[in-house]
Amino acid sequence: MSAMRRYLPVFHDILGASVLVVGAGAVGTRKIEALLAGGARVTVVAKEFSTAVEERAARGNLALLPGTFHPGQMEEAELVFAATPDRALNRRVSTEARRRRIPVNVADSPEECTFLLPAVVRGEEFTAAISTGGRHPGAAKGLREFLEDHRAEISVRMERGRRRVRIAARPGKVYIVGAGPGDPDLLTVRALGLLRSADAVVHDYLVPAEILSLAPAKAARICFARRGKTAGHGAVLKQNAIHKAMVRLAREGKSVVRLKSGDPLVFGRGGEEAEHLSREGIPFEIVPGITAAMGSAAAAAIPLTHRGRSSSVTFVAGHETDDKGNSAVDWRLLPKDGTLAVYMGVGRVAAIAEELAGSGFSPDTPFAIVENGNRPEQRIFRGTLSALPRIAVESRVRSPAILFVGRTAAFLPFENTGETSDEAVPQGG
Ligand code: SAH
Repeated sequence: MSAMRRYLPVFHDILGASVLVVGAGAVGTRKIEALLAGGARVTVVAKEFSTAVEERAARGNLALLPGTFHPGQMEEAELVFAATPDRALNRRVSTEARRRRIPVNVADSPEECTFLLPAVVRGEEFTAAISTGGRHPGAAKGLREFLEDHRAEISVRMERGRRRVRIAARPGKVYIVGAGPGDPDLLTVRALGLLRSADAVVHDYLVPAEILSLAPAKAARICFARRGKTAGHGAVLKQNAIHKAMVRLAREGKSVVRLKSGDPLVFGRGGEEAEHLSREGIPFEIVPGITAAMGSAAAAAIPLTHRGRSSSVTFVAGHETDDKGNSAVDWRLLPKDGTLAVYMGVGRVAAIAEELAGSGFSPDTPFAIVENGNRPEQRIFRGTLSALPRIAVESRVRSPAILFVGRTAAFLPFENTGETSDEAVPQGG
């Protein structure tokens, strides 16, 4: 028989219950606060009381008995706690309580307890209690942290359970979630929790399989490929199809994760999707992610802002939309003394270099290209704007890649950044 079998896990209702606590130091105070939070009527016996306890007593529901413990004080009690630094006194409290068949807990002394206090994780609508019978406090703490990390997931599951109990045909919810630049370690805890409890995942081609595999095997996966798209109406049809799929799945009562690379609101059409969902009356929530500019900047040690070098950062679309060959950006208006992070620029690198040159950017402004940032295949190239088209061609830069322009792009000497990539041209051109 496992040593833990002798303990019956129960949730004792303390609302209005009389509870005696002996000791009002740090440990006692924590117990008193938990008991008061649950609505118990608490009596505390101690030689000295912590300030917190004294302050609480002034607000009621808490009676203080200064002085020494005597067994008569537990006549009314439903539960007794001993939390003094005096082990002999704690033992006496335990013995007296047990003689009266009153459940008793002694801090840090499981053998003198008739009930244990578990480690607790509380969500909005749940409480999880964990105990190893006081034998493996480290393990209990680890398990508690695990549950804390998965609080979002637990809430989603509960939401779903509630929905099932209510009406089966109620609309589900769409979570518009940023997946970050590709490394699963760069997901937010919320994204991970939602993904793990998703009924359906609607994702873009840029989200790697490693991240998609975090969703349950039984969850429907719908990918809207951008590769092989046709020009003209292609992009619009694709977006409409995504809208339709999300609405249909949500109306089936599903928890739908709309997974986008990076952040959903940075060149991700998250806004359009949120607009559509709200028009259709589908509940949704937006979960931010690490956008490519931030992930790649970190990977290449590029401070997007830096005292004396850059006091602004601008996220620019190299292509405004999928089906537009030219950029809708007025490059002349971009700050020359900050950092530019150009998304989706790969196919237009030469044109962008020309536009920058024609808009007053000096040919010796440093640039850095981060290809497949935060992924195992990551490559980084640096140089100055005059050499940008040549370097991009010679290095065969591929999508996804992001282009940084500005003095911050040459922040650290290459040797210090730990880059393993084939550097095309030394910094400074
Ligand atoms: N919502 C996304 C951007 C989608 S647009 C975000 O916030 O990051 C797609 C563009 O993002 C790509 O063309 C590329 O410029 C950039 N991008 C996405 N992932 C990237 C990565 N891992 N490394 C470098 N650039 C990336």
